[in-house]
Amino acid sequence: MSGVPEHRTAKAERIDIGGENGPSIDPLPYSRPSAIPPATGSAFQVVGDMNESVVRNTPSLLRIGLTGVCPSCGEGKLFSRFLTIAKACRHCDQSFEFADSGDGPAVFIIMFVGFIVVAGILTMEVLYQPPYWVHGAVWLPVTAALCLLLLRPFKAVLVALQYRNRAAEAKFDNNDLD
Ligand SMILES: [Zn+2]
Repeated sequence: MSGVPEHRTAKAERIDIGGENGPSIDPLPYSRPSAIPPATGSAFQVVGDMNESVVRNTPSLLRIGLTGVCPSCGEGKLFSRFLTIAKACRHCDQSFEFADSGDGPAVFIIMFVGFIVVAGILTMEVLYQPPYWVHGAVWLPVTAALCLLLLRPFKAVLVALQYRNRAAEAKFDNNDLD
């Protein structure tokens, strides 16, 4: 390492593909001045102990949505009540503190259910021209049922996506302010 900055040698060793006796060429005509630290941090923070191996072994989004299982182990429960996210998984202790789907599920359901119900109402009206009370009697319960049925799966999928993509509300790290 004599005289060669450490970050340069590290880079050259990593890129060297010349075999045992091949040349070790630093392919970059320049290197980052050591005074400038490498870029770190982003709007998203790594949450909890979500490491790569855990993320790779997660259950499918479809299964999480349909059964509401823990996005980490697929065994424990994500919900403690109908729409309340549990504090942590009872099976693998994965914390769900990061979970904040906000208005996400409602927005998706408004668009999804709205599309289905409006299409159904229009089709029924064009085909049968029923009195308005028939529309109400059919579509109000259908709308309520679809919304209630879908809220939990959508919420589970959004929390699972949040978990997989390590997305959480951005926080100021005191180190960034130095
Ligand atoms: Zn779990």
